Amino acid sequence: MTTSRRIGVNGETFDIYEILICEHCLILLANGECSDPLEHDTPEACPSPSDKWPEAESITLGRLDHAEMCGDTCEGDCGDYGFSQSSCEGCGDPLHGNRAYAVAWVPA
Ligand SMILES: [Zn+2]
Ligand SMILES: [Zn+2]
Ligand SMILES: [Zn+2]
Repeated sequence: MTTSRRIGVNGETFDIYEILICEHCLILLANGECSDPLEHDTPEACPSPSDKWPEAESITLGRLDHAEMCGDTCEGDCGDYGFSQSSCEGCGDPLHGNRAYAVAWVPA
């Protein structure tokens, strides 16, 4: 259920994709390193959203339009999607589990 849109930021045009990522990808994006450095001790062993989104200039955490979509009801936790049975859209991990929203910024 990837949603995409084309937007302009500071004179640059991006195709932005809202994706759902697993907890491993979330930690990787948030901390810059993996939650499992023993098993994932090489880049090949550590699947990353940037492998699946090689054209993305950056991948940011959270929803596309926090202000627009949440209104007054949001307490800033809209980045949490909850339990999903779909594969992670960041690393392709097919395990079911909690997912979080992220946005991939692909230069158009
Ligand atoms: Zn890893
Ligand atoms: Zn929100
Ligand atoms: Zn993942």
